[in-house]
Amino acid sequence: MQTAPKVLVIYTGGTIGMVNDPLTGSLTAFDFGDVYKHIPELARLNVDLTTHAFPRPIDSSEMNPHWWKEMAELVYNKYHEFDGFVILHGSDTMAFTASALSFMLQGIQKPVILTGSQLPIGTIRTDGKENLITAIEIAADKHADGTAKIQEVAIYFEYSLYRGNRTSKVSASSFEAFRSPNLRPLAVAGVHIDYKGENKLGNGNLELFTDFDPSVALVKLFPGLNWHLYRSLFDVKQVKAIIIETYGSGNAPSDQTFHDLLLTYMQAGGLVLNITQCSTGIVEQGKYETSSFFEKNGVLSGKDLTTEAAVTKMMYVLGKTNGDLKAAKTLLVSSICGEQS
Ligand code: ASP
Repeated sequence: MQTAPKVLVIYTGGTIGMVNDPLTGSLTAFDFGDVYKHIPELARLNVDLTTHAFPRPIDSSEMNPHWWKEMAELVYNKYHEFDGFVILHGSDTMAFTASALSFMLQGIQKPVILTGSQLPIGTIRTDGKENLITAIEIAADKHADGTAKIQEVAIYFEYSLYRGNRTSKVSASSFEAFRSPNLRPLAVAGVHIDYKGENKLGNGNLELFTDFDPSVALVKLFPGLNWHLYRSLFDVKQVKAIIIETYGSGNAPSDQTFHDLLLTYMQAGGLVLNITQCSTGIVEQGKYETSSFFEKNGVLSGKDLTTEAAVTKMMYVLGKTNGDLKAAKTLLVSSICGEQS
């Protein structure tokens, strides 16, 4: 008889692991060891499940590179013991964590599926049950030759599986909380799980890299932005890279103060990456007069990176290249693990 696939479910926190306290009426985290009590269906899956909970559940607003490292190390250290991994995580910053883990665990040949829910598992209309059960099924799914169907970090939410580093949270209330605006879903769950998306294969050389450098700033343009208020950001000793969320295909006003700040900053060794505020489409510097300054002066195009992927990619690149600007620029304009077109 074939042995059941082994899946490690890691509970980090978030709404999915909460129940209503009958005394106070407020949401509190339940002991994750009791998960079978709340989802008895799990016992009927043909999967050998192991659970691991963080010492205390973390609202995903509290996530940071330290916790990303904890998760990546856990997957790395248990890599050979399990066929797949499910990470239960608050939905608010799940897309940042999924992006960060994709850079931390390059070459992976097993699924790391993040999921969560909009309603706690303890409420009648919860979306958490379906999300968790299907995420486990995907984490356990293999081809006939024994290789994993999904060999990357992904987010499963409301019947769709998305590449983690292509995903953004788009709704605070709808069950369909995530979108992958520039890459179609890796799979859609209906009667069957239809793996119809891009099939990314790990190269098998799983490389753990967790030394992220968070000296990154993010500026979203808006009409009337006063660059004098942002002067202190353009200090390369404090801020090694600035990501600018521009308009449309990468456009910005031709403001002299802005241009001067950018030039001095880049001459001092600062990196500047241009991403778009639009959720679909791509940065094309030089297409309009309002983006030709960027193209001529060494601002890098972030193409169709999501904000989440841009921030975590920058932290990864800064940590990895450790002051080597040429190497950093080369990495920033390439697709490292499927995060950009
Ligand atoms: N605030 C929660 C969190 O992100 C919301 C959720 O779990 O979806 O941790």
